[in-house]
Parts: sequence; C-alpha cells; structure tokens
Amino acid sequence: MTAHFNDAPEREATAQRAREKFIETYGYEPDGVWSAPGRVNIIGEHVDYQAGLCVPMAISHRCYVAAARTPENTVRMRSLQSEETFSGDAREFAPGKVEGWPAYVAGCVWAVASRLGGDAPRGVDILVDGYVPLGSGLSSSASLECGVVAALNDLMSLGMDEKEQVEAAIRAENEFCGANTGGLDQSASVRCREGGALLLDCADFTTSPLPWNLETEDLALLIVDTRAEHSHVTGEYADRRAASEAAADACGVKTLREVADAEQPSDLRAWCAEKIGDETVAHRGFHVISEIARVKEFVELLGKGELRPRLARIGQLLNESHDSLRDNYEVTCPELDTAVDAAREAGAHGARMTGGGFGGSAIALVEAEKVTEVADAIAAAFAAKGFKEPAFFVALPSAGAGRDL
Ligand code: ADP
Ligand code: MG
Repeated sequence: MTAHFNDAPEREATAQRAREKFIETYGYEPDGVWSAPGRVNIIGEHVDYQAGLCVPMAISHRCYVAAARTPENTVRMRSLQSEETFSGDAREFAPGKVEGWPAYVAGCVWAVASRLGGDAPRGVDILVDGYVPLGSGLSSSASLECGVVAALNDLMSLGMDEKEQVEAAIRAENEFCGANTGGLDQSASVRCREGGALLLDCADFTTSPLPWNLETEDLALLIVDTRAEHSHVTGEYADRRAASEAAADACGVKTLREVADAEQPSDLRAWCAEKIGDETVAHRGFHVISEIARVKEFVELLGKGELRPRLARIGQLLNESHDSLRDNYEVTCPELDTAVDAAREAGAHGARMTGGGFGGSAIALVEAEKVTEVADAIAAAFAAKGFKEPAFFVALPSAGAGRDL
C-alpha cells in the first residue's frame, strides 16, 4: 500500500502565486502578501481548559493572504478554496452578521477596528490561498485568522505585538464566529518559530520557545490525517469538559493544574479514585493530571538540548499520552488507534492522536529516512480495516505568522 503525501508548497513561490491571483481578481497590485501556519500539538491534550500546559509546533502548511488597503469601508474577499466570494461594509460587521468562511476574515477586521481612529477607512481587498487542510484538526481557521490579522496590522499600521495579534484572532473566532475554541491554535500560529516548538501555559497564555529541531537530528514528525468523521463530537467535548470540572471540584481546586503542580502522590490513579469517587470522573481527572505531568517531563527533556540521547523517553511520553486519551479520557476512535498502533509497529519512536480526538489527525515521531515506510504501514492497516484512505504530511517546525512579499 503506497501512502499519499500532501506536501506543503514552497513558500516564496506560493506567496507569488497569491499575488498573481490577487491581480487577476481585483485588477491591481496588492500592497503585500502575508501568511500564517497551521499547527500540531505535540503533547498536552485536553488540558487547556484545566489551565494545563501544551507543546504545539507550527507546520509548513500555511494560509497565504494577499491584501491591499482601500480608501473606503468595503471589505472584499475571495478564497481559492471556496466558490463563495464576499463584499460588505466593515462598519456593519458584528458578531453573527457574517456567515461561512468570510466570517473568519470579517471577524479579524471587526476585532482590530477599535484600534483605528473613528473615521479611518476600514476597507481592504483580500485574496486567500490556504494549504492547511480544512477541518482536519490542524487549525486552518487559525492560519486564516492569523494571516489576515498580520496583514491588517501592517496595512493599517496598528502596531500590534504578537500577544495582541493572538488576542485579535481569538476574538474573531470566539466572539465573531461563535466558535468556542481554546486559544492554543492562534498562539501557535503567531508565536511559533522555525526549528522549534512552543510551550504554552494555558493558565495565563504565556509562551516560551523550546528546542525541537527535528531536521538537524534527521527526525521527522509524520502527520496522519485520518479523514474520519464522527457524529456527536460536540456533545462528547462538552461531556469531557464537564467531567474534568467535576474532578476539580472533588479535589477542592479551581483547576486540575493545581493538583498537577502540587507534590504528586506515589499512586496517582489510586489517589484520584479515592479523592474523586465516581469511577468515570476519576479516570478523566487522572488523564488531565497525568498529562500535565507528562508535558512537564517532556519540556524538561527538550530543554536539555539534543533530542537523540533522550529519544526513547520522549517517544514513550507520546505513547503514554495517547494511551491515556484512549483508556482514561476515551476520546480516540478506531482510525486514530489504528494509525498509532501501525506507526509504533513500523518503528516510530512514539505516536499519538493530536487535537480534540474522535477523528482528525495523529502524529508519529520517526527517523526521517523511515517516513515512507511508516506511512505505507499505516495506509495498509487502514485499507485492511476498510477505512477511508488517510492523507499524510511530513511536518518540520515552521515559522509563525509573517510577511512574505
Ligand atoms: P480547522 O481549524 O481544524 O481546520 P475549523 O472548523 O476550525 O477546522 O475551521 C475550518 C473553517 O475555516 C472552514 O470551514 C472555513 O470556513 C475556514 N477556512 C480555513 N481556511 C480557509 C481557506 N483557505 N479558505 C476559506 N475558508 C477557510
Ligand atoms: Mg479551527
């Protein structure tokens, strides 16, 4: 079984293409081209809403935004990934007023509007060309928002620093589009650096860079888009969130981060069972607390420099994370488990699901020379079970949002 790879296109050429498409669409030269990446979470899953720690990295798949400021208030937009174009008056943008993909862009214009003087024109022409697969858990939405915010920041001389850009993109997604998502995606898309990962502390959204230079160590992160779609996902998320809150209540803390930061009992599982009572809630709590502990150890290992001497334990932590999400948090699905099992059997150092679960993507840390072999093994395992054919990417830690042209 030969795996199908979906490599990211080369950055400069793609930015040029966005420029040309802008000219084709609007009949004049754009002021510039900006882009922002999708992201993958390496470890620290389902802990953000308990003030936990996550370790995302930006992937090489980006969303490109060619844009020009206009002297009016009309915002026009076109995406090469959609038939639907949009034109509207920016002064009328309000939460719930714009639908479909244009809402992500309009939301960004809305989120930065207060930074402009009252009478300053808010009009822009925008051409979007995105390479982060839509809805695969790799955050195409944040790549779009963060690309647009970077463009607006320069075009309108808003002077926003990275933190403010992240906040604007989050407001666009949460308040304007009504999508109740964390903030991990936008933080990663803006703040990640080439050749490194990011430690994101969800207690206060502070970030710090982490060494994670896979390329110089002949390693690669294989991303498997399972293309699995499951129903009831929203209800399942709400259930896990509620269970984690019940676990925190039972432990007498505001968030489980407090438990994870305190001295750990010798048998955490037994401690959770006793303290929390309800068996399912105890399992959920155990996942969150132990996952935060895993992130701490992971970060410590990365902080020591080269990955290779510590590869065995790094891989094991990825495996333990997945196994806990499967057994304690119960957010995996047959496709994710199959991808992870096949990757491990084919020689991955470690593999786990990434993102919310119930479909979406899995990651495997592999020797660079073994990427195809591991991907082929996963594709074969999917075919044997009659699953939809998965898509593969090789991800190297990439740069955050920025200007291309
Ligand atoms: P994810 O962020 O995991 O890919 P979401 O459901 O959060 O999934 O966001 C996907 C949505 O983002 C799409 O349905 C679309 O509305 C919007 N989007 C992202 N990238 C683009 C693009 N290049 N062109 C148009 N819309 C896009
Ligand atoms: Mg998203």
